[in-house]
Amino acid sequence: MSKIGIIGGGIIGLSSAYYLAKAGHQVTIIEQSDLKDGCSFGNAGMIVPSHIIPLAAPGMISKGIRWMFNSTSPFYVKPRLSSDLIKWGYQFYRHATKEHVNKSIPALKELSLFSKAQYQQLAKALPFDFGYHERGLLMLYQTRETEHEEGETANIANDHGIEARILSAEEVQKLEPDVKVSVRGGVYFPGDAHITPQALVTQLIKFLKDKGVVFLKNTVVNDFVVEQGKIKSVLTSNGEHIFDEVVIATGSWSGKVAAKLKLSLPMQAGKGYSFLLHNVEKNIRIPSIFLESRVAVTPMGTTLRFGGTMEITGVDHSISMNRVKGIVDSIPRYYPEMKVAIPEVDKIWHGLRPCSPDGLPYIGRSREIKNLVMATGHSMMGLSLGPGTGKLVSEIIGNEKTSIDIRMFNPERF
Ligand SMILES: Cc1cc2nc3c(=O)[nH]c(=O)nc-3n(C[C@H](O)[C@H](O)[C@H](O)COP(=O)(O)OP(=O)(O)OC[C@H]3O[C@@H](n4cnc5c(N)ncnc54)[C@H](O)[C@@H]3O)c2cc1C
Repeated sequence: MSKIGIIGGGIIGLSSAYYLAKAGHQVTIIEQSDLKDGCSFGNAGMIVPSHIIPLAAPGMISKGIRWMFNSTSPFYVKPRLSSDLIKWGYQFYRHATKEHVNKSIPALKELSLFSKAQYQQLAKALPFDFGYHERGLLMLYQTRETEHEEGETANIANDHGIEARILSAEEVQKLEPDVKVSVRGGVYFPGDAHITPQALVTQLIKFLKDKGVVFLKNTVVNDFVVEQGKIKSVLTSNGEHIFDEVVIATGSWSGKVAAKLKLSLPMQAGKGYSFLLHNVEKNIRIPSIFLESRVAVTPMGTTLRFGGTMEITGVDHSISMNRVKGIVDSIPRYYPEMKVAIPEVDKIWHGLRPCSPDGLPYIGRSREIKNLVMATGHSMMGLSLGPGTGKLVSEIIGNEKTSIDIRMFNPERF
């Protein structure tokens, strides 16, 4: 049994704690916030083995540039003189190729399916309900151009054994009998699932506490003492802590935290927003993504969550009402009978997605620092990949053969 310090109490840190505690380790989570909110709470809750194409893909740069000049569009990069952003942008550009996509697909697919399998087990094993449903995902489109693009994505998915069904507008409507849908068509991925993320995260924290995991809340990790290639102690705003093994699961902050150890972990925060519609009488049954506006819509009981935008603006917590308006305006275009008002600013949630420049997470043990494991950079899929990543972290720390090949996720690849 080892003493493990996990830095970061988001879905990745919590999932790692779950599997490490289960393996008999003594686990402490160090978290700078009060653990009441964060990127892992208000996201769209989608578990998406359908998403096998990384963010760094051909066409993303030209699309991004077009979106940059529209203040209600789903994507924005704040131009700023930051060497981290410039290096990240260069790596993104280098990886937005067909070769990179082809190499990444098998690795992402395996991790996604592995993580979904962990969710299936968690839904049975955990003594609380977190709204796990396997109803699939509908990718909805309105233009011929998007129909073509999504059709290609569906073909790639089918070629890799992920079932994707191309549907006409009528077939989409049949899947959603209670809500009028206005689309040219859609692609249905029956293998996807969804949860209510805040139900999972808040109850998992309580569960882990009951199992003996120690939570050091409102505690910032500021630095490390490294001796002979190992972390000797972790220096926090509340004193020094000693562990046998340390896990960095600090999401969007990971680049800064790794830099304290002189490690290069390129990371940018991709800010997104979400809000809820309560007491929805006629709710959708299947989560959907409006492809043209990149808005994710997830039914969670009687509520409906809308989420979207990707703003690369650094660790920045401001709310852009223009982009929220972009999300709101898209709703009646796809669900014409759903009239949604722009929410008050205090009802708008935001989260910072930890984005690596090649669209792949960082999962693995450091070669430079022997008792360090990194688990971060899951971008738009951290919730989906959380339990799978947590299980892998536990296997790495236990010096076991990992359940899947993790070489593509090498945290020291940049
Ligand atoms: C609008 C939106 C919708 C999304 N929808 C989905 C979805 O449907 N499906 C999906 O899979 N993913 C989705 N995501 C992405 C997902 O939410 C993230 O990938 C995931 O939450 C990242 O988890 P994490 O644990 O890596 O990071 P976080 O949840 O950010 O946790 C990292 C923690 O580390 C702490 N920390 C940082 N630095 C320090 C330090 N120095 N000391 C102590 N603590 C520190 C932070 O306070 C933070 O709590 C969405 C994101 C957004 C914004």
